[in-house]
Amino acid sequence: LSGSDSELLQLLEELVNQDSPTTDKVSVDRLQDIVEARAGVPGTLVERLPVAGYGDHLRVGFGEGERQVLVLCHVDTVWPPGEAARRPFSVEDGRALGPGCSDMKGGVALALHVLGLIARSSRRPAARLCFLFTSDEEVGSPTSRALIEREASASEAVLVLESGFPPEGAVKTFRKGWGRYTVRVHGRASHAGADHAAGRSAIKELAQQVLGIESMTDYESGTTLNVGTIAGGSRVNVVPELAEAEVDVRVNSMEAARRMDAALRALRPHGEGLRVEVEGGFNRPPFERSAGVAALYETARGVARELGLELPEVPMGGASDGNFTAALGIPTLDGLGLVGEGAHALDEFVLLEHNESRVRLLEELLLRLGGEPPYSFRQP
Ligand SMILES: [Zn+2]
Repeated sequence: LSGSDSELLQLLEELVNQDSPTTDKVSVDRLQDIVEARAGVPGTLVERLPVAGYGDHLRVGFGEGERQVLVLCHVDTVWPPGEAARRPFSVEDGRALGPGCSDMKGGVALALHVLGLIARSSRRPAARLCFLFTSDEEVGSPTSRALIEREASASEAVLVLESGFPPEGAVKTFRKGWGRYTVRVHGRASHAGADHAAGRSAIKELAQQVLGIESMTDYESGTTLNVGTIAGGSRVNVVPELAEAEVDVRVNSMEAARRMDAALRALRPHGEGLRVEVEGGFNRPPFERSAGVAALYETARGVARELGLELPEVPMGGASDGNFTAALGIPTLDGLGLVGEGAHALDEFVLLEHNESRVRLLEELLLRLGGEPPYSFRQP
């Protein structure tokens, strides 16, 4: 390992070994203490943005100029408290392992490492850099979305440091939009033996609704509806008064998102004396591969080629904070973190052989983006 490589790896170890479940503010704040200290290199302006209920967010500014390039990282993970003690950071066969290593402590470590390199280098970035380290991405970014959208609106390009896709570290130029809905049916309870006819079964109605909802899936256009949970009824000898289902909706386009939202809100009961209630919406708009996204990708690919690297692209089904910024029309490139896979799974890993090239790629992008063409992405 070169000196730079081992520094990055040590940082990743430190981050992985500090638990940071989204729902545990104390742990996430402790992780943010590490990030805050590491980000405090000469020339940076580190702001801690206090959050109630979730961990604090950090905003790190570097350099100056009218133009801004935004880098997005989230520090929270899906892993429960104690997970890092159960399976601490380790390295096996060229892979780093441990909770959150790929999603996305690898990206956090890379951002901090490259920030340190840029701060120590004599080269100045073409635009001012803004790094956001947010605390609540894994639950849909309830407290960071407005901050992300505000900084993205002031930026000409957004880089998201979720992991690159193995084996080559492909970047993500498209992500599906994600909606979550609850469909609740209100019926009328009655005694299943003495007064069956007077009842209005919420379960029977919901069963019919489920078939209708699932039938809206259209693989051709990339729209899927999944009734993921269902609950209802009180006891076996009572006609059920209440039943509800949770629905996960994925779409490829804004137009499909609007259509599915309208279709779900238009659900009506099949039977008399029943009521259907629909709550929810699209938390993540689709991250479409717009002309701006394609141009940013081509520019990044050109930089990668200069470094002797291939930079393939890949579409993803899952959402990220890049969905918010791409939906605002800001050119966004995702998957620029370390190369890894297995998010939310026990076999999550980072492929260490790519670390050095990911460092060089991100450093070059941060130095050049926001400069003159082809590095300019100013909105018309
Ligand atoms: Zn993530």
